[in-house]
Amino acid sequence: MIYSFKLIHSLVLSLLLSSIFVVPSFAQSNEKNEVNELNVIGGLLEAKRYADADRQALLFIERALQKDNAPSDYLPLGKLLQAYSRFKASKAVLDAALETYTREGQLLNVARSLLHLASAERHLSNYVSAEDYLRRALSIAEMRNDRQLKAEVHLELGVVYKEQDKLELALEPLKLALAVFRDNDNVTYSSLCLSHIGDIYALLGHTTLAFTYYDDAYSAVSNLSANVENKRLLGMIKSKMGSLQLKDNEKEDALQSITDGLDLLLSTNDVGAIFEAKMLMGKALLETGDTVKGTALLQEAMSFALESGQIGLVNDVRLALAQGYMREQKFDRALIYARAGTVDARKHGNLRDQLRFLAIQLSANVSLGDFEKALDIQSVVQELREALLNSETQNAVKGLQAEIELVRQSGELEKLEESKQLVIAKAEREKLKNTLFWSASVAVLLMLFLMWSRFKQRQQTIILRREVRQQTETLQEKNSELEQAYKTLEHVSLRDPLTGLYNRHYLESQLPSEIKRSQIEIDNISTPSKKRDLLCLLIDIDHFKSINDDYGHLAGDKVLEGFSSVLKEVFRHTDLIIRWGGEEFLVVCRHSSREELPELAERCRATVASNVFNIGDDKTVKVTCSIGFSLLPPNEISHFDKAWQRTFAVVDYALYAAKLSGRNGWIGLIETYHTTDANRTPLDCKFDFPSSRIATSFNNIASIQWPEEVTR
Ligand code: GH3
Ligand code: MG
Ligand code: MG
Repeated sequence: MIYSFKLIHSLVLSLLLSSIFVVPSFAQSNEKNEVNELNVIGGLLEAKRYADADRQALLFIERALQKDNAPSDYLPLGKLLQAYSRFKASKAVLDAALETYTREGQLLNVARSLLHLASAERHLSNYVSAEDYLRRALSIAEMRNDRQLKAEVHLELGVVYKEQDKLELALEPLKLALAVFRDNDNVTYSSLCLSHIGDIYALLGHTTLAFTYYDDAYSAVSNLSANVENKRLLGMIKSKMGSLQLKDNEKEDALQSITDGLDLLLSTNDVGAIFEAKMLMGKALLETGDTVKGTALLQEAMSFALESGQIGLVNDVRLALAQGYMREQKFDRALIYARAGTVDARKHGNLRDQLRFLAIQLSANVSLGDFEKALDIQSVVQELREALLNSETQNAVKGLQAEIELVRQSGELEKLEESKQLVIAKAEREKLKNTLFWSASVAVLLMLFLMWSRFKQRQQTIILRREVRQQTETLQEKNSELEQAYKTLEHVSLRDPLTGLYNRHYLESQLPSEIKRSQIEIDNISTPSKKRDLLCLLIDIDHFKSINDDYGHLAGDKVLEGFSSVLKEVFRHTDLIIRWGGEEFLVVCRHSSREELPELAERCRATVASNVFNIGDDKTVKVTCSIGFSLLPPNEISHFDKAWQRTFAVVDYALYAAKLSGRNGWIGLIETYHTTDANRTPLDCKFDFPSSRIATSFNNIASIQWPEEVTR
């Protein structure tokens, strides 16, 4: 089974070899002999003079190290030797390279040297050393953050694990490497990874899956240009496919695949890969019954493997040969190869190979009848199986650990993510807290502000109320003052200071409403009372001037006061008694009947005439008065001003007539009519009344002396 892997190892080297001639540091080397040496050794290898090439290489190193101006670049030579599977020689060269690069501090070249050293050690089945070199290379790659180098180290590490049967452990670095190569669109390296992963699935018994991987790798490389490197890779993958087909007992197909693979490889000079393919071919031929040709091929591969120190390949050949001899029932011969294989496998700690060889020994011994030996082997097999199981368990556990590590790492990532989320959440919380804090602060401030403004408002309201109250009080005070002032004013303006009676201003302010009301009452026939008339009487003291003249002005005043008292007695308190001016008084009676006019006038005249007026100094006087009266208004006049003017004119005219007619009497108009009377009085004529009813205290109407005779 291991043989298929050897092909890959060769491929790695081939790929590396391909870069030899483009390493600028080497090309730029001043040491011409370096280039010459490389050419010489290359020529020897080309000529398959491997031992000579090895020798030449070692001599070159030795000479170079003895010189002071030792060449700085050994890496190309190391790679060249590896390409021809000269692993032991390459190790010596690479050791020198490592030393030089380390001394010169060329870290990346140190890492590359370590990588190639690991590859050499792996081919020589020195896995512990290989792993050690790889760890060192990996730390440099990580330190320099060189992804490509890191991936190459991972690839090599995967192969190292795989060859040690640490299959599960091998998968991880291969996957890591694959990811990087794919990332870099490096199809060749990606396919290399895929083919290694295919190997692992093949070893685990997942044939279909393994084939898929090989197929993928093959298809990917087929699309690339058919250069040497790609041909080499295709050849090796094809051989692996054949190996898998052989395992599945598809012998014809297997033979075809291996033949195709070998043809491809033969055009490439990759000795290692060619011999591995030849080994596979030999094995396939043995299984198909072509023993001679098969054995010959296997022997050829064996001598190459032994000569180049590739224990893995040696054992692959031994296994194939032992199985072939067993089929041919050549048990002794089978036993020889099986025993040798067991020893080497044990030496390199390869349990699986040990078991394979022991199984052959067991059947061979049984077949030979050496049961004692067979039993011994049986017990060893048992132990090994347990050990293998154990190691498989260990490997499985390691694999599991790797998985766990992965899970752990992803867990870490998750944790990291979680903690990130936590941090975000915390930040969000903080943000929220902050927001809440600020919101709360704003709310509190707002509340405080509201409370403050409310308080202020209340304060203001209180102040305002107080002010309003004060103002109201002031206003009330002012009002009362005003009222008082008004009263005073009213008293002053509306009343006569001497008699205390209203003056003509008051009458003018009251009369319009009185007239209106009276007229409404007149118009409203439903009003039960007949007393709906307004009556107007103008009263003038007769010869008042003589009182002033006889008794003095103050006496006259006393008479005026007394006269007003008489008027208050004569008229109702609801009647308006006004001092019209001088010794003239006007009375307006409300809620009265026009028929009452003569009676009222007479009562007033009589009372005045009978009254004794005290004029002071125990002196009294007697006075009379004349009265003119009229219904208010005397006829239907809606306009107040006109009604009043007309009324006053009538009463004034009547009064004048009374004066002319002898005084101490009254003349007045009770009502007017629409029908024209033939005997119209001068009053009718003066005021253009069609006719009227006039009353007088004098003898009769005819005896009245009218102020002026108006012709009809
Ligand atoms: P007649 O019968 O025609 O009315 O004659 P009379 O003297 O009453 O009328 P006249 O108008 O001639 O005189 C009125 C007088 O009244 C003149 C005036 O001095 C006087 N008088 C007017 N007002 C007052 C007043 O307030 N006090 C006093 N003492 N006399 C006044
Ligand atoms: Mg007068
Ligand atoms: Mg008078």
